[in-house]
Amino acid sequence: MSPSFVPGPVDVNHDILQAQAQPMLPHRSPEYEKIFHQAEGKLRVLFGTQDRVLISASSGTGLQEAAVRNFAQSDVLSCINGAFGNRWHQVALSNGKNADKLEIPWDQPITAVAVQHALANKEYEIITIVHNETSTGLENPIEAVSNAVHKISPNTLVCVDAVSSLGGAPILMDSWGLDFVLTSSQKALALPPGLALGATSNRALERAASITNRGWYFDLLRLENARIKNSTPATSAVSLVYALDQQLDRILEEGLENRFFRYQKLAERIHQWALQQGFGLYAPADYRSRTVTTVTNSRNIDVSALIAYLLERNIRIANGYGSLKGKTFRIAHMGETTMADLEMLLTTIDDFLAIPDD
Ligand SMILES: *Cc1c(COP(=O)(O)O)cnc(C)c1O
Repeated sequence: MSPSFVPGPVDVNHDILQAQAQPMLPHRSPEYEKIFHQAEGKLRVLFGTQDRVLISASSGTGLQEAAVRNFAQSDVLSCINGAFGNRWHQVALSNGKNADKLEIPWDQPITAVAVQHALANKEYEIITIVHNETSTGLENPIEAVSNAVHKISPNTLVCVDAVSSLGGAPILMDSWGLDFVLTSSQKALALPPGLALGATSNRALERAASITNRGWYFDLLRLENARIKNSTPATSAVSLVYALDQQLDRILEEGLENRFFRYQKLAERIHQWALQQGFGLYAPADYRSRTVTTVTNSRNIDVSALIAYLLERNIRIANGYGSLKGKTFRIAHMGETTMADLEMLLTTIDDFLAIPDD
């Protein structure tokens, strides 16, 4: 199998795939509770929190829904500069919330100043913001935004989607003052899809206790009550939790700083290659993602033909998202991707580019 550069589901290490093949344990058994407890402790290290990480059998979008249902009775500020920020807004609306948009052009970051403006005239219960917009390869300055929110609107909870960055770029939940940080298993954590992880602050849980109609499956107080007993309210995704526990060992063994550095180097290599080849980079210089790079198709190549050429060689990259299709292409460099994998990809793209036009 050749490596994939698609932003999720990403390649999973063979040993981690095998970890799922262990015999099932009941989700309320001392043996399972031990694994669950270990995994949750390691997750806190990744999220930079002392509080708790809730483990849900769903994809990340499930926890986007949990955030709007648990922390807001009505008023949500949805920060949008990409497809996943927009999805979270749609999730809020479809749960009957009164969600206002703070919309920024997709090639620009959501800044502290913009958020401050939006909070000046109305008190929101929560703001939702995406850390790393996988649709554009842009990283939003979450720490600065969070500081701005606390300053101007101290009761507003800061909810962050870190689906394609948690484990791939620094996120310090406690020191940045974040209230809820969610991720999915199948992106930067390099696990199979099916688990969502949500780090939740104490004050966020206190807020949840005052909100009605939180639902059942994504009621975070219910998940918390089960977590205290090292399990989940409904059946756990047992095999995925085996894989999670082992993958967290691998991640911590590599070291978070080493991992972040690896992705940074991969990103820099793609930037250098893209500019050298006459392409552009979609995200502005200080806001480029560490885990997925969007290359602007300034040479006007046939992106679908490139993708097909790579696929014939068992290599996958992603086209631009939505209206950016054909105008950009995306190379993910999260999970297990190495520099050797990337060099192989770039050489193959160079071969494609060298094919003479008829
Ligand atoms: C993939 C992605 C999602 C959606 O996650 P699912 O696990 O597919 O529900 C949300 N936000 C971001 C930033 C993503 O990259």
